[in-house]
Amino acid sequence: MLTKAPKGTNDILPDKSHIWQHIEKEILKICKEYNYKEIRTPVFEHTELFERGVGDTTDVVEKEMYTFNDKGGRSITLRPEGTASVSRSYIENGIFNTPQPSKLFYNIACYRYEKNQAGRYREFHQFGAEVLGGGEPSIDAELMSLAMLLYKRVGLTNLKLNINSIGCPECRKEYNQKLREFLRPNFDNLCDTCKNRFEKNPLRILDCKSSVCKDIAKGAPMLIDCICDECRDHFEAVKKALENMGIEYFIDPYIVRGLDYYTKTVFEIIADNKNSNSTICGGGRYDGLIAQLGHTTTPAAGFAMGLERLILTMEEQGVKFPEENVPDIYIGSMGDAAVSFASGLAFKLREKGASVEIDHLKRSVKAQMKFANKIGAKNAVIIGDNEMAENMANIKNMENGEEVKCALDAQSILDVISK
Ligand code: ATP
Ligand code: MG
Repeated sequence: MLTKAPKGTNDILPDKSHIWQHIEKEILKICKEYNYKEIRTPVFEHTELFERGVGDTTDVVEKEMYTFNDKGGRSITLRPEGTASVSRSYIENGIFNTPQPSKLFYNIACYRYEKNQAGRYREFHQFGAEVLGGGEPSIDAELMSLAMLLYKRVGLTNLKLNINSIGCPECRKEYNQKLREFLRPNFDNLCDTCKNRFEKNPLRILDCKSSVCKDIAKGAPMLIDCICDECRDHFEAVKKALENMGIEYFIDPYIVRGLDYYTKTVFEIIADNKNSNSTICGGGRYDGLIAQLGHTTTPAAGFAMGLERLILTMEEQGVKFPEENVPDIYIGSMGDAAVSFASGLAFKLREKGASVEIDHLKRSVKAQMKFANKIGAKNAVIIGDNEMAENMANIKNMENGEEVKCALDAQSILDVISK
């Protein structure tokens, strides 16, 4: 137990963290280009927020939340997703008073008590973007384009953008009735969760993972065929905006998305993964959520993408990862005076922005050079009594073996290694 992390969690180890940093850098870059500002919210919230904000007929709330009472007896939940928290903060901090729409993003760890499998963990990471205070179809299309462009930038290919419209509460009322009629003959065979959803929110049944429920739902009437004129116009405008940007999409009438309070547009981005879960991004419009949390009705839309699944997909597609970060120079040393001088020199070089490693284990010169090689240092220099006396450094380029002499000071060394 002591040296085993809880099931469903992953350490991001030092030999992989540069990949995460690379993706995070791309996220920051694209969010700047699209003018989305970062928002950071707490890891835990009041449980009611997710019950209300995610919806109490969703898998997330019904089965997957990490909920506990804190020492004050309040029910607390580790966030299973980001949208509810962002919406809570938008209301609480009066972000609705700033120029609208508010375009926000987050890059967070999320917690869901799920069966552990490839691409499905109990702690995982999501990059998400949300636009609150705007109901125009251009927003839906902008969000999708941001997600697709990010995937392209990190080198993913063969992704499928599937879109659908699940209408508004008005058009859904009529549809829910039709769907119930369709499902009723098989009601007794539905799983217990879906039986419970039948009256409250039958649409959720189309999103059930059980194969029996999936079979029962086959051939069900499609919501997209029943949506009202306003919702249809919105959907057509989203499609047009995607076409204007040259983004290919497919209509998948069976997407309903895992969260309640979605309205109109819903979408998923699918990778053709063989060994892991393939939905790498999900999103949509949630015009009903802010009102559900007690504020005035405020249209909003967003998406969230799983970063573990993104990296797994990069691996499966054989995308070339960026090189690991390596030091610009290794400064070895021999003898007490040189050891002390080396650490001062390393500091001066680091001050100037160079990446530097030194010997911390009092190794022999041979072992120091071996170490420099192993850690992939681009250059190496060994300082001993002679170098100190002559004020001279012999810098070895570890890639081609060439050696260059220069004065033993930070600026001269920097000039050599930055050539
Ligand atoms: P799924 O159908 O795979 O359970 P979901 O509908 O529950 O996904 P969302 O709540 O929409 O997922 O979350 C957005 C994205 O976060 C998903 O598309 C996926 O990439 C990622 N994700 C969701 N749950 C997990 C998890 N347990 N582990 C890793 N990534 C996850
Ligand atoms: Mg899920």
